[in-house]
Amino acid sequence: MLTSPTILDAADPLARFQADFVRSDPDLIYLDGNSLGRLPRATADRVATAITEEWGRGLIRSWSHWIDLAREIGDRIGAGVVSARPGEVLVGDSTTVNLYKLAAAALDARPDRRVIVLDDDNFPTDLYVLQGLAAARNLELRVLHTDIDAGIDVDALRAALDDDVALLCLSHVAYRSGALADMSTITEAAHAVGALVLWDLSHAAGSVPVPLTESGADLAVGCTYKYLNGGPGAPAFLYVRRELQATLRQPIWGWFGQQDQFAMGSTYQPVAGIERFAVGTPPVLGLYAVEEGIRPVVEAGIDAIRAKGVALTSYAVDLSDAWLTPLGFRLASPRDAARRGGHVSLYHPDGWRICQALIARDVVPDYRTPDRLRLGFSPLTTSFEDVWTGLSRLRDLVAAEEHLTFDATPGRVT
Ligand SMILES: *Cc1c(COP(=O)(O)O)cnc(C)c1O
Repeated sequence: MLTSPTILDAADPLARFQADFVRSDPDLIYLDGNSLGRLPRATADRVATAITEEWGRGLIRSWSHWIDLAREIGDRIGAGVVSARPGEVLVGDSTTVNLYKLAAAALDARPDRRVIVLDDDNFPTDLYVLQGLAAARNLELRVLHTDIDAGIDVDALRAALDDDVALLCLSHVAYRSGALADMSTITEAAHAVGALVLWDLSHAAGSVPVPLTESGADLAVGCTYKYLNGGPGAPAFLYVRRELQATLRQPIWGWFGQQDQFAMGSTYQPVAGIERFAVGTPPVLGLYAVEEGIRPVVEAGIDAIRAKGVALTSYAVDLSDAWLTPLGFRLASPRDAARRGGHVSLYHPDGWRICQALIARDVVPDYRTPDRLRLGFSPLTTSFEDVWTGLSRLRDLVAAEEHLTFDATPGRVT
């Protein structure tokens, strides 16, 4: 028996957070909050005030408080979104650039080792950054094969680790399947051979607990425009474990990492703390949007968010088993809720056309190759009613073969 969404919504302790976000089209079912989170109601005013008051009136004087924003917001992410101590998280640059900075820093810290381990289900930008670093330094990329629906095989990973490995780089939640990696076990395995570990938290931050401190993780990067609702192109964050900060050096020696920055000294001498991983002038307006984006996440608490994420994805799996499997869909995510993050993927051989037909029915999912519909259920902004309505529209359109009228060639942005 499928539970009615009305009953589930009535019992949802996080339901009130939906009102904190803009929902301009009540008929639109948005299942892509894991790619671009909804706009928090508070953001437009916060950014407008920053523009008119802090920039318009305060002008350059406002730098007296802008100067610390990247670290202050980083600390809030460390305290309420991922588990990190003060002074371990910094906001700025993109996830790609931060990945480059931290991966290069890790490789420099293991100069006698020649191998980077990663998996072939890593997000493309992560693969490219590591390919570029390996090419520039003549290192070996040891690429593990990962089942794209089931996630990382820890035994295969252990077999790939030896004392020539400098760096292991993986996603905490896989971008396509949502498979959740065991951060503690994997970090321990890498440390046992003396390697450093760099985690990409883009699909984890704001959807699952991220035990950076507890697992002893070394390094991490993550997005703020997905579950953290910071807006398109919002600055990313990076994490460096406190004990490593003094010995790691990132490759872009910019003035925002410099000791006594405004002394304008002619030689780079990085500060001791997390700001040595900064580069140039931070994107202040974007930082304020991040501040508003993480506010409801911190207020709701990550454990409550995770509990609702499990309930939403489990509900979607139940509805899919009942309605969609008979229509040729197959679950392309771990079935065990403990092994997946906040989204679920469904495979169908006609995935691209179905995705287009679903958008035409006012349901917005993501399409991911090969032939997967990725359904993101951002816990603060998605109701059980959304899951029910979204999947019932999907069922009805495929049953009516509406997708057969759509173009079979994928577009440039999917
Ligand atoms: C979304 C995402 C990124 C995005 O990187 P950008 O530099 O913001 O384009 C990187 N890695 C993963 C795993 C992602 O999911």
